[in-house]
Order: sequence, then structure tokens, then C-alpha cells
Amino acid sequence: MRRLLSGLLVVCLVAGLTGCSMESQQSNENNFSPASRDFFAMNTYIRLEAYGDGAADALAQAQERMEELEGLWSVTDENSEIYAVNHSGGQPISVSDDTAAVVSFALDMAEETGGALEPTIYPVLTAWGFTTGEHHVPEPEEIDKLLTSVDYHSVSLNGNTIQLEPGMMMDLGAVGKGYASDEIASLLRKSGITSALLNLGGNILMIGSKPDGGDWRLGLQDPFENGTIGVLTASECAVVTSGNYENYFTAEDGTTYGHIIDPATGYPVDNDLAAVTIVAQDGKLCDALSTSLFVMGADAAIGYWQEHPGFEMILITQDRQILITDGLDGQFSLDATHSDMKIDVVER
Ligand code: ADP
Ligand code: MG
Repeated sequence: MRRLLSGLLVVCLVAGLTGCSMESQQSNENNFSPASRDFFAMNTYIRLEAYGDGAADALAQAQERMEELEGLWSVTDENSEIYAVNHSGGQPISVSDDTAAVVSFALDMAEETGGALEPTIYPVLTAWGFTTGEHHVPEPEEIDKLLTSVDYHSVSLNGNTIQLEPGMMMDLGAVGKGYASDEIASLLRKSGITSALLNLGGNILMIGSKPDGGDWRLGLQDPFENGTIGVLTASECAVVTSGNYENYFTAEDGTTYGHIIDPATGYPVDNDLAAVTIVAQDGKLCDALSTSLFVMGADAAIGYWQEHPGFEMILITQDRQILITDGLDGQFSLDATHSDMKIDVVER
């Protein structure tokens, strides 16, 4: 199933819900009316909103930057650097600084998360049909065979040169949008923007606070049905959610399989978690952790948080419990429709 509305977080603004039209609008009548741009990139709908002088021009540059990064990292575009790396037959490939930086980050996070983040999972993802939309459950033997060439340790990155072993393939799907959000934010900041809301298909990054000085209000998607579960108030940070309820397919026997794969088994994640939301300064850290802590399951995710400062999280379990780390205490409130759900605060 192709993702149509990839926003795991619906952004609720005073002005109303964000739309998903493909054209860009540029209005900047005063500081309280944002310039905005809507477009499709990295397989998802993007909506950028920025306030203040020069916002429309800055957003146009941001879109260009996003499209530039997509051109480097697309797994399907024959002209992309990742495509060249994946089809090199084991030969070293020279890549741009952006690609070297994002691959370096992905490898570091793979190490840090004990391989829960696995940038070379792509052949397994393909076997399940997530890359083509022709979904099916592979034979166990096929998965086992493919897993023999899944191992981030075998990716060699020296300066700007990447070399994979023959048969290996990389995919930056779990970190690319987060990296892109950081890049766009830095570009907007350089243009003097102090208030902006970037929504890259559910990867949210907020520059500053709302122009009136208040926190942004983000609606957290309900992983069990359409609609939101509650509202997170935040400013000057990134918020990224991962779950297997958004890009998934249902097999003939009624089992649903999602697009985040547990690299230990080669099967889509099936644990006690329904969704993981990460809040941190850095968009790419949020992106990497939302995917990998979802793979780990609730206990290991909490253990990871206890050992690693610098981020907060909201876990929604399959049995409808909400676990919030103490740094977010008071920033999340349930919608009236979900007041039956229980919130527990997790401490370090
Ligand atoms: P989304 O792209 O929907 O925001 P994620 O950031 O969680 O979601 O990334 C999921 C994507 O990452 C998958 O579509 C796939 O391309 C890739 N992926 C799946 N499982 C893993 C994994 N264990 N490690 C790294 N990348 C993964
Ligand atoms: Mg991610």
C-alpha cells in the first residue's frame, strides 16, 4: 500500500488543519499569516510554513534543497548516489558530503541501537514488496538467505567513498526525512526565519514558537483508528513518530504486516508497541530513534532512554497504554474521546 497521507502527526494550527494540495501558496500579508509550500518528495507529502519577512523565498529554497537530497538518496532513481552504491557490484563509489554525512549518521545509530536501526535492510523490505507495492509474505528460506547479506558492519565508509559487499543494498528511509528537516531548518534560520513549522510526512520540526509566542500544538495520530489521540505542545524541537499502522498490508490469512522490519528476524515488527514518538532537538536523531525504538519494543526502548540523554518519548502500546518520559510531563493531553486511555510517566 502506497502511503497516501504519511503524516503520523496532524498539525493543528489556529488557522485550521493543514491541507495536502500539491501547489504552493505564498501569502505573507503580516507576521501572523505564514508563507507555505506543499509538495511531494521522499515518498511523502511535505508542508512547510514559515513566518516573517522573506519567508516565501526561504521556503522556495527549502523545497529545492529537499529535492536535491531526494535526488541523491532515492533508491529507485537511477541517477541517485544511493542507486549507484546499491548497483556497484561491490565497487567503491564516491558520494557527496550530504550522502557521506547521512550514511555516517545511520551507521553510528545502527551501532548505538545494537542493530535495531539497520540501513542495509533494503533487500528484505523488497522481498516483502514494500518497495514496489506488490506485497506478499516471503518464504522463510528466502528471508534467511537475504538476511545473510544484511549487516551494517559490512558497509565501508571512508571519507566520501562508500563500498558495500556485492548483493548488499542500503536504504535511508528511516533517517532521510529527519536529516532533510535539519537541513531545511538550518537554511531557514540562515535566512532569518525565527518561527516555522516543517511537516515532512509526519517528521515535524519546529523553529522557535508560534509567531504569537505560544507553543505549537501537534495532534498525535491514533495508531488504532483514524483521528488523533491527544495533543502535544512544544516549540523549538523535532517530533517524529513511527509505527506499523500506516504503511502496511493485510495477508490472505488476515495478518497485517508493516514496513518497519525487525532486522533480527527479517519480519515486520510485531511487538508490544503500536507507535513511538520521539522529541529532541535534532530531526535526524528523532527519525533514527523512532524507527529503532519501535523495533526494540517498550522495555528495551525505556532502557535505551534511561541510558541516553538528549531525547524524550511517547510510547503507545498495543494494549492502549501511553508511556511518557518525564521530560514531557505536562506537555501531552488526551483528547476527550480518548479519556479512557491511561498515561504513565516514566522516570530516569
Ligand atoms: P516513515 O518513513 O514512514 O516516516 P520510518 O522513519 O520509521 O517511517 O522509516 C521506515 C522506513 O525505513 C521503511 O519504509 C524502510 O525504508 C526503512 N526501514 C524499515 N525497517 C528498518 C530498520 N529496522 N532499520 C532501518 N531502516 C528500516
Ligand atoms: Mg525513522
